[in-house]
Amino acid sequence: MKVPLLKVDKLTKHYPLAAGFLTKTVPVLRAVEDVSFSLEAGETLCIVGESGCGKSTVARLLMRLVDPTAGRVLMEGTDIAGLNTRELRASRRRMQMVFQDPYSSLNPRLTAGQIITEPVENFESLSRKQRDALAADLLRKVGMRPEMMHRFPSEFSGGQRQRLGIARALALRPSLIVADEAVSALDVSVQAQILNLLLDLQQEMGIAFVFISHDLGVVEHIGHRVAVMYLGRVVELAPCEALFAKPVHPYTEALIAAAPVPDPTRVRLEAPVEGEVPSPINPPSGCAFHPRCPLAVERCRIEIPPLVSMPDGRSVACHVRSDLERAPTAQFSRSA
Ligand code: ADP
Ligand code: MG
Repeated sequence: MKVPLLKVDKLTKHYPLAAGFLTKTVPVLRAVEDVSFSLEAGETLCIVGESGCGKSTVARLLMRLVDPTAGRVLMEGTDIAGLNTRELRASRRRMQMVFQDPYSSLNPRLTAGQIITEPVENFESLSRKQRDALAADLLRKVGMRPEMMHRFPSEFSGGQRQRLGIARALALRPSLIVADEAVSALDVSVQAQILNLLLDLQQEMGIAFVFISHDLGVVEHIGHRVAVMYLGRVVELAPCEALFAKPVHPYTEALIAAAPVPDPTRVRLEAPVEGEVPSPINPPSGCAFHPRCPLAVERCRIEIPPLVSMPDGRSVACHVRSDLERAPTAQFSRSA
């Protein structure tokens, strides 16, 4: 059987918070609950959802920057939790991360050339000539001029800095890049350039992306599949076209309904649905979306809906909608 590039299995991250002065029990913040998905080589999976729903925590778990409370991350079939320091270093060659803030993620005291070749120099020592050749090659790959290698981060625009962040991520020729809000801090026109650069690099180098964004417009542009998160859980996972053509989960529906017509006046999806996002410290019982959901029935207040596969290849965690979508097959199997 073919092993997927990345497999995430029931990943969960709880953060214990400081206990109150008089209480003994430590409250727990449920940042990520029971998240599962897989990713093939060269594929882009987008993770979308409102601020605080656990997207960055998933990214940190994938890179093993934090350890999971439960669940596993398998990279090419290997559980990254079982790796020792040396093996983890080696696995980081294959998984790289691009961060949101192109201003704070680059060391201001290093030149662009030093910044982008540093990941390689962590593994092997390069001569001056080799380093310059590598820097020139990486800069060209991200659409920048080789002579820019001598400049410092402060001399670049936001878009150029994000290109440097990408060049740095490419240096070790990874098979997976995890990009956490990688274009969110950029102007709309620059966003489009960076997204197109990522698409070109994917074509050329066969890189897979886990692309995290709160912006559905960006996701529609770049995603093959989309996972919609709400309060730590995946509520819908679908091929990109299917998700935008026909969202099934009421939360996805609300997100898409609130999303503006594509560009140029991109609006952020900070609060697309009525009501507040509940706290992950004390999440609602049953389906966490039920207090905001127009379709909620009694069962939604009691039972957590599992993520159920639909006949059209998507998965949805909704008692009301997944029953409707599944109705024909469910009836068939009962009478058989
Ligand atoms: P997103 O990236 O979707 O905005 P995050 O993954 O950053 O969401 O955060 C999910 C939840 O976990 C939030 O409620 C956040 O406050 C909480 N959280 C993230 N990191 C920590 C941490 N180190 N300690 C405690 N809580 C955290
Ligand atoms: Mg985040």
